[in-house]
Amino acid sequence: MRKKIVAGNWKMNLDLEQGLGLISEITQMHKDELLEGPETIIFPSYVYLSSAAGLLKGSKVELGAQNINENKNGAYTGEVSAEMLLSVSCKWVIIGHSERRQYYGEHNALLFKKVKTALTSQLKPIYCCGETLEEREAGKHFEINKTQISEGLFELSEEEIKQVTIAYEPVWAIGTGKTASKEQAQEIHAYIRQILAEKYGQATADQIRILYGGSVKPDNAAELFAQKDIDGGLIGGASLKSRDFMEIVKAAQ
Ligand code: PEP
Repeated sequence: MRKKIVAGNWKMNLDLEQGLGLISEITQMHKDELLEGPETIIFPSYVYLSSAAGLLKGSKVELGAQNINENKNGAYTGEVSAEMLLSVSCKWVIIGHSERRQYYGEHNALLFKKVKTALTSQLKPIYCCGETLEEREAGKHFEINKTQISEGLFELSEEEIKQVTIAYEPVWAIGTGKTASKEQAQEIHAYIRQILAEKYGQATADQIRILYGGSVKPDNAAELFAQKDIDGGLIGGASLKSRDFMEIVKAAQ
């Protein structure tokens, strides 16, 4: 049985006060309303990860970062290393979000290095893939996801790939209010698991968690999470509202 994950990607939103306020609300609700929940992770801005870690002490909500640099340390102005993230109690890191691919030119070969760096440092990567609307309309969605997964992950060993979580996030569904239907999402999740099985064997593929992301809301989360190959969600907009986020967390129980 794969334990579900619900992860909130705050992107470049909320200042220190707002961020810490949201964390207080989430941790309180999490404590009051959930006995045995899914793994719950929040990904705030770098600048207050350290303060966030302080507030999360004693809570089951875990902390992650939205990106890392692929290098260990050195002259990389403006960048943040895996070691720095570990030093502020981050356990997780998002790698290859479509916004990083689209606006910052992050490509599969670079993302592979980031995944490797994260794993070497014992940070758990959530590796994102997903097609654009144009690619889906051209019938290329299987091929695009396969390329992103194989180029970004397939040089990992079997032991390493087991530590990776994948997030399928169709770009056309991110922040647009358009969710992939449960059938569309399950189809790609099953396909991703199939290509993982072809490369690493079925037993390994069956252990890897594949999250869905793209306009997940309290009213569509349960039906998405009920799909056989959907192991939870990576949530953008709805993770900025404590009540909505908590309802999505509960939908994964
Ligand atoms: C995301 O950015 O990872 C995301 C899924 O965003 P939203 O939920 O707002 O579509």
